[in-house]
Formats: sequence, C-alpha cells, structure tokens
Amino acid sequence: MSEHAPADEVHIALGQDYPEIRESIRKICANYPGAYWRDLEERIAYPTEFVQTLTEAGYLAALIPEEYGGAGLPLRAASVILEEIHASGCNAGACHAQMYIMGTLLRHGSPAQKAHYLPRIASGELRLQAFGVTEPTSGTDTTKLKTRAVKNGDHYVVHGQKVWTSRALHSDLMLLLARTTPLDQVSKKTEGLSVFLVDIRESLGHGLEIKPIKAMINHHATEVFFDGMKVPADNLIGEEGKGFKYILDGMNAERILVSSESIGDARWFVKTAVNYAKERVVFDRPIGQNQAIAFPIARAHAETEAADLLLRKAGALFAAGQACAPEVNMAKLLASEASWHAAEACLQTHGGFGYAREYDVERKWRETRLMQIAPISTNLVLSYVAEHVLGLPRSF
Ligand SMILES: Cc1cc2nc3c(=O)[nH]c(=O)nc-3n(C[C@H](O)[C@H](O)[C@H](O)COP(=O)(O)OP(=O)(O)OC[C@H]3O[C@@H](n4cnc5c(N)ncnc54)[C@H](O)[C@@H]3O)c2cc1C
Repeated sequence: MSEHAPADEVHIALGQDYPEIRESIRKICANYPGAYWRDLEERIAYPTEFVQTLTEAGYLAALIPEEYGGAGLPLRAASVILEEIHASGCNAGACHAQMYIMGTLLRHGSPAQKAHYLPRIASGELRLQAFGVTEPTSGTDTTKLKTRAVKNGDHYVVHGQKVWTSRALHSDLMLLLARTTPLDQVSKKTEGLSVFLVDIRESLGHGLEIKPIKAMINHHATEVFFDGMKVPADNLIGEEGKGFKYILDGMNAERILVSSESIGDARWFVKTAVNYAKERVVFDRPIGQNQAIAFPIARAHAETEAADLLLRKAGALFAAGQACAPEVNMAKLLASEASWHAAEACLQTHGGFGYAREYDVERKWRETRLMQIAPISTNLVLSYVAEHVLGLPRSF
C-alpha cells in the first residue's frame, strides 16, 4: 500500500470554505442562466462574455502568483471557483485549462518566459487555454505520440497532428507536447518528449491549421495539424526531452480541479432533481414521495458528499506537499461517478421533460458524462489504483 501523510499533519476544511468566493461566483453565474448556454450551443459559439467576466474579476488568474499579477490563491480556492460555476448550472470548460496549464509554465518555465507571459495571462491579454497532448493514433498511450519537433538552429520545426485539442481556436497560446528524440533512440519511453509554448496567432497559416470538431457538447474541441510549423527555441519549456515529466507534474492539480467541476455538477443535479420531485404532481402526489424517485437522488447526494470529502483530502495533501496521487485519482473516479449518477437520477426524475432543452438537464447530463473520458478515462484511473495503490500486476 502507498505511504500516506500522518493524519495529524494535514487538515481539511469542511462545509462552505471560501464563502466570499462562492458568493461572488454565484452572483456572476446568475447573469449567465441556462438560456445563455443553450443559445451558445445552438450557434456552436464560445462564451466570450462569461470568460471575460471571470477574467476581469481575476478568477482565471487565481493560481498565478501575485508577483506576476495573479491572486496567488491556493489550489483549493480554484477548486471552489470551478465547483460553484458548475453548481450554478454554468460550465467552466471554456476557460478552466488556463488554471492548470499555467502551472507547467510556472514550475518549469525560465524566469524570462514567466516574466513575459504570466502577467499577460493574468491580465487576460493572452489566453493560454489550449493543451495539445492527445493524438488520433496513440490515444491514451501518450509516450507513443508521433508529433515531432526537430531543432534547426534557433527554432524547432514541428510536424504531426493532435486531436480533441479544446479551445485552440479561442486561445492565443498552446502548450504542446511533442517528441524531440525518436522513441527508438531513448532508453525510457517517457524520455525524449518536450513541451513548447506555441504562439497560435503567429503560427496559424504558417504550418499550423486548426479545424473544429463537431461534438456531443459545446467544448470547442479541434483537430490541430502541424506541417513544418516553426517554434522559436526560446519557447521550449524547461529542458529538452523532459516534457513528459513536466506534464505529469501538473496532472494532480488538473485532476483535483476537474473533480471539483464534477462535484459542482452533482450538486446542481441533486438540487434540480429535488426541486422538480417536490413540485411535479402525478397520481395526485409529488413524484418525490415515491421512493423509486427519491432514493436515486438520495444515493447520488451521499455519493457526492463522499467524493467531496476524498477530494478535499486529496487537495489538502497536495497543498501540504505530501504524496497525493492515490487520493487524487480515487477522488477523480468517485467525483465523476457521483456526478453521472446524479445526472441519471435528475434526468429520470424529469421524465419526458428531461429531454426538453429548456430544462438544461439534458445539456448538463451530456456535459458531465465527459468527466469519465477526459482528461483521463475511468479505466486508466482504475488501473492506476490497481497497480500503484494495491500493488496488483501492471496491465499495460
Ligand atoms: C470533449 C473532449 C475534450 C478534450 N480535450 C482535450 C484537450 O484539450 N487536450 C488533449 O490533449 N486531449 C483532450 N481530450 C482527449 C482526451 O483526453 C482523450 O479522449 C482521453 O484521454 C482518452 O483517449 P482516447 O480518446 O484516445 O481513447 P483511447 O486511448 O483510444 O481509449 C479508448 C477506450 O479504451 C480504454 N483503454 C485504452 N487502453 C486501456 C487499457 N490498457 N486498459 C483499460 N482500458 C483501456 C480507454 O479507457 C477508453 O475508454 C478531449 C476529449 C474530449 C472528448
């Protein structure tokens, strides 16, 4: 079994921590009701005003240190921001990546890169929203990715393809993972991958092409094609060949943040289902009086509370600098399942009206399903727990 930090060294806050942030996010979200999101989805449009409001209020720079113009808040505060956005019926998918992608630049970027980019990202002048990792042929097997970056004097030349790169058409910068040393020339498959900060504005039409993907949800996903795209060598983050480690470094934070969105979704579904189950009268009584309606909602609520506790534990270990990957992965699993079970209960509670767009249940149901696929699929989380937490044989 894995080593855990002694319980008396790490504390978790219960209840509504960061109440001022929660209140402020709720107020902002009240201006972006379901009709706003439905209209965007119909037009496959980006929530520019919503993202602008969050940027101006400083929330997307929550994790950027104060010396670079951000709020310098702990990860838990960012979790609270994302949870409340989702609990309010909104969706942070259009802008959440900035919170965790920025960490790679912050931890591994040079002083010059940080001084150049972070204040501009904090102010909203530059959007760092695109994260190019997944490829069509290699999928979850990241170290087999085929995009190549070859050094040529003061720049790298990139050839290859990414898929499902969210928000690439709504971002100024992309964090790109590419292979700089061919797989057959490295001693470990995790070596020879490098991370670059790509200036999308400069590269579009010069070896970079981006095509939107029509998808189940309005997530602004794209296919990205590199055909001789030049990236200045100055835009390499950290050391060449160490990029996989840098990306892994950020995964705990990313999983904690997306799990907070799942908790927020779950709370929205439970609240929405409870309200409807109390109001909807069939056979002369509220449908919530039927245990077949009440119990799935109650079960989803209990699952949400349990997932939230484990997520807070994961976050507290992270904040204390303790090993936290087991808790992070288990929290990701439980939070994504709690939100899915809550979504199912909510949809079922609404009967046919669950299919009516104006209730927003079917939209949130589609949106929360993603959490079991991206950024990491449930099977991969389970195989982590089986192998690294329980010591079972490695499966791949
Ligand atoms: C809307 C959306 C947005 C996304 N945004 C981004 C983004 O911004 N940037 C980015 O880089 N990626 C992004 N992704 C990609 C996402 O991270 C991947 O889809 C996800 O990691 C799964 O990879 P895959 O689709 O290639 O599935 P595959 O790797 O092909 O796997 C397919 C299925 O097989 C299972 N599987 C594979 N191998 C094993 C195994 N050994 N044991 C058990 N099961 C296994 C997987 O769990 C999965 O269920 C996004 C995806 C979506 C749908």
